[in-house]
Amino acid sequence: MSTRRLSYSCFRGRDGVTIARVITPPRPLPHLLPARASWIEVDASALAHNIALFRRLLGEKVRLGVVLKGNAYGHGFAQVLSVVHALADLLYVIDPRDALEVRRFEETTGATSKQVVVLGAVDAQEAVECAQADVDVVITDAGWSNYVSTLRSASLMRPLSGHVHIDTGLGREGFTRDQIPSHTSFLDDASDVINVRGVLSHFANTEDVTEQSYANRQLRVLSEATEALKMALGNAHFERHIAASAAAMLLPAARLDAVRVGIALYGLWPSSETRLSASVGMDEPPKLHPALSWRCRSQAVKSLSAGAYVGYGCTWRAPRASRVAVLPVGYFDGYPRLLSGRAHVLVNGQRCPVVGRVMMNHIIVDVTEAAHDDTEVVATLLGTDGDECLSAELLAGWAQTIHYELVTRLGPHLCRVVV
Ligand SMILES: *Cc1c(COP(=O)(O)O)cnc(C)c1O
Repeated sequence: MSTRRLSYSCFRGRDGVTIARVITPPRPLPHLLPARASWIEVDASALAHNIALFRRLLGEKVRLGVVLKGNAYGHGFAQVLSVVHALADLLYVIDPRDALEVRRFEETTGATSKQVVVLGAVDAQEAVECAQADVDVVITDAGWSNYVSTLRSASLMRPLSGHVHIDTGLGREGFTRDQIPSHTSFLDDASDVINVRGVLSHFANTEDVTEQSYANRQLRVLSEATEALKMALGNAHFERHIAASAAAMLLPAARLDAVRVGIALYGLWPSSETRLSASVGMDEPPKLHPALSWRCRSQAVKSLSAGAYVGYGCTWRAPRASRVAVLPVGYFDGYPRLLSGRAHVLVNGQRCPVVGRVMMNHIIVDVTEAAHDDTEVVATLLGTDGDECLSAELLAGWAQTIHYELVTRLGPHLCRVVV
């Protein structure tokens, strides 16, 4: 049993990112991993493996972009950046402040400067800062014409690089096919401050279906809109990108000049439909490696007599003399309250049920089978321990949500370490 106990050593790596190594045989947990809070481990080799899978799939002509939105899908922006910066061709973020964070990372580590695209909304002042930092933005609507005067008065060294977003059927941001060229005409006269470098769109339902007729329609609309924009602006070439993880895997025609890989970079399938389509339609379906584990040490392990109640509302009552572990994790940390009485955690490689309600900062698990005295245990909330694995999909299903939401809601306050 004790050979299964997880233990660690830690040190500060490049750019202040904490690096941990799993040590066997067991040693005391190090001071950098919090005693009374949960932590998240990000497996650098899993991220590298997933990127290598896409490299093989895409070949040399398609550029590999990695998506770091949502605090790098909850894995930790700084931690993931430190691993993937060197492996990606370009980086996509939502928040312009994250793009500037990439530039700071490059300055402090001496890494080469990569193309960075801000997918989310920016205001006029942020557009100026992006231009100054050589960060690309996405031009989503005619409201951007109001930014031109601000950009001019900033006396930029070089024009802002922009990608025109086409709404090809998602109904979210972007110009519709009909709005080109009428709504993009302000760009004709703004070439001194805005250089239109690319055209992009985003699929609506590639993850929800196993036949892709809607995606193919979106591709046709993008192609028409791109031609219309070329005519209007007199550009010979745009960088074209539309595919997220699912389309990058399943729709070769959607790979275009670059792909934007999010969820699959972290080792998670976009959906079971995507996984199914890949397993029947691809010669060699990729074997993704999940990169995230979420663990904590017990705050207390104790014995309860038969009939004792546990948690708010007294919703669980020990059916026999039991041993429980009190874990310092709750819905504040991103452990959904819907997991009350439903989820399991892993202790010593065994599944232990969450008993009673998930609280703000605590859960209680039944470790009667997994622990044989009251000494501290390490619990795995998400990830692998021994032969058992709790996947993000499994936890998300128990919590009646999707794994995208589950991982992106992991508290930004939690300590994240690269292992
Ligand atoms: C989130 C997002 C992606 C990545 O999607 P995944 O399914 O996580 O790969 C790509 N492009 C845009 C515009 C997005 O919002």
